[in-house]
Amino acid sequence: MQQLYVIGWPIGHSKSPIIHNHWIKKYGLDANYAQKAIAPQDIAKFISGLTPQNCWGFNITIPHKQAVFANINNRQNLAKILGATNTISWQDNQLYASNTDGYGFNTNLSELSDWSAVDQPVIIYGAGGAARAILQSMQDAGAKHLYIYNRTTARAEKLLADLKIEANILNNKAELQACLATAGLFINTTSLGMNGETELDIDLSAMPKTGIVSDIVYTPLQTGLLKQAELQGLVSVDGLGMLLHQAAKAFEIWFGILPKVDQQLRDLVLNDS
Ligand code: NAP
Repeated sequence: MQQLYVIGWPIGHSKSPIIHNHWIKKYGLDANYAQKAIAPQDIAKFISGLTPQNCWGFNITIPHKQAVFANINNRQNLAKILGATNTISWQDNQLYASNTDGYGFNTNLSELSDWSAVDQPVIIYGAGGAARAILQSMQDAGAKHLYIYNRTTARAEKLLADLKIEANILNNKAELQACLATAGLFINTTSLGMNGETELDIDLSAMPKTGIVSDIVYTPLQTGLLKQAELQGLVSVDGLGMLLHQAAKAFEIWFGILPKVDQQLRDLVLNDS
């Protein structure tokens, strides 16, 4: 049997086992996917003990995406650019680090909106790990007029320097709000709006009525930001699809099958509490 994991610290209640075990069953594979809590100090030991027999592959969640990357020398080019990995597989008997987060984000956004036709500013709110993958994927997909805002401006500057992307930095909330008045797409990549966190404080009424608002937070599915977008008549894109599509790409890396992301799976994940 092929054993797979998602590792994190704390691991909490990850949705990844339900997603991958659904596909494993659907395709009749002799495999199992479980979650595993690994403390930061145990990452290197965990990795050195792996064989294809005891672990066919694993996903990485907060806070290990950079630490695991640092411990694996065989890397996909995109993971190298991002300096982070979320999916580990075997290649020529060596562990191989990939990153499927940007693919997940972009595939979902493209399915639920006509964002590639947007010729107005694209604003990315946040400059953490998820923003890194999303900014790179937007650049790779040909997004023009990229703008980035982060509470800590220095982190946004570092992100652009690391990725060598020429985007514009919005230095404060006033600049953000002014840019929003001409924006075609606004993306929240922070944890703001997540259950237990404060809401993202922005007034979407200034955004052009053709605008698209995307939130990568998926607990709750409809964040305060997305509620506001719907009230304004804007297209809204929730964060669950990113999770499902990054998982689909990881599944393809491990098993050579790109599973379909459908409503049945969305419902399964949404009903899992
Ligand atoms: P991260 O690296 O820790 O970055 C967190 C980001 O949120 C930073 O930009 C940070 O700004 C900002 N932030 C946090 N608290 C804030 C506050 N009170 N006010 C303003 N900004 C705040 O985290 P991450 O890995 O990028 O993840 C971010 C969120 O995305 C999490 O909620 C995660 O669950 C979600 N996510 C979803 C998916 C999906 O598949 N849908 C995938 C990955 C991540 P500073 O730099 O100023 O601290």
